Amino acid sequence: MGTIYAIANQKGGVGKTTTAVNVSACIAEAGYATLLVDVDPQANATVGLGIERAQAPGLYEVLTGEAQAVEALTDSPIAGLQVLPAGAGLAGANVELPRMDGFEQRLRECLEPLRDRFEYILLDCPPSLGPLTVSALVAADKVIVPVQTEYFALEGLAGLLETLALVQRESNPRLTVAGMLLTMHDGRTRLGRDVEREVRAHFPELVFDTVIPRNVRVGEAPSYGLPVTHHDPHSAGAEAYFELAKEVAARG
Ligand code: ADP
Ligand code: MG
Repeated sequence: MGTIYAIANQKGGVGKTTTAVNVSACIAEAGYATLLVDVDPQANATVGLGIERAQAPGLYEVLTGEAQAVEALTDSPIAGLQVLPAGAGLAGANVELPRMDGFEQRLRECLEPLRDRFEYILLDCPPSLGPLTVSALVAADKVIVPVQTEYFALEGLAGLLETLALVQRESNPRLTVAGMLLTMHDGRTRLGRDVEREVRAHFPELVFDTVIPRNVRVGEAPSYGLPVTHHDPHSAGAEAYFELAKEVAARG
């Protein structure tokens, strides 16, 4: 039975997609059958792995019942990593989903048959706490919360934690936080060090030991349609993501 991880934070630009793509790639590289599901209508994870933005069928067609999840699986450039792309109509899903009966359970039901095929399933969430993110949290066993190491890092986390508690209480009691991940960290600046200290003090035990540094190679990798771990495996960013994947696997 595969484990489902949602990569979530309603703030945009904190490193959700980068983390989803790179952790998936590292886990696949380590020999585990891995699936990355693009739950964001912006389709950045899909495009960042060199797959057509409008590739169909995608998650949209799966959620609306036009296609089965297995029919929407696509190979990525990484052996062992498959992708369930966003699909062209996913932006409309935020409006259409709530009109469907039991929509919050829908993604979970669609992914259930894939748990036998994949050891790890990662869900790249959109930057909101809307229906798609809620669906992902209902489907997930664990959540990874990327937090950008900047002045407003903690802002908005309260809202996310409230949503997590609500989902746990109402529909998914097995949901746990796998960890918070400090991203785009600049250890040379005082601000970077202060924010890291503050987040660790606020959430003891919850923050991954591994910190992802700000690294040019990480930022440019998607334009090559590759994870940084394949674009430049010896970069500081790639090495950090390899370490993180080990930590994620070790936390079980
Ligand atoms: P989100 O999915 O949370 O919106 P992204 O993963 O798309 O965030 O990251 C936002 C931007 O920052 C992207 O352009 C991405 O390439 C860049 N980025 C993410 N992590 C790093 C990093 N460690 N170093 C440099 N750039 C990064
Ligand atoms: Mg994203």
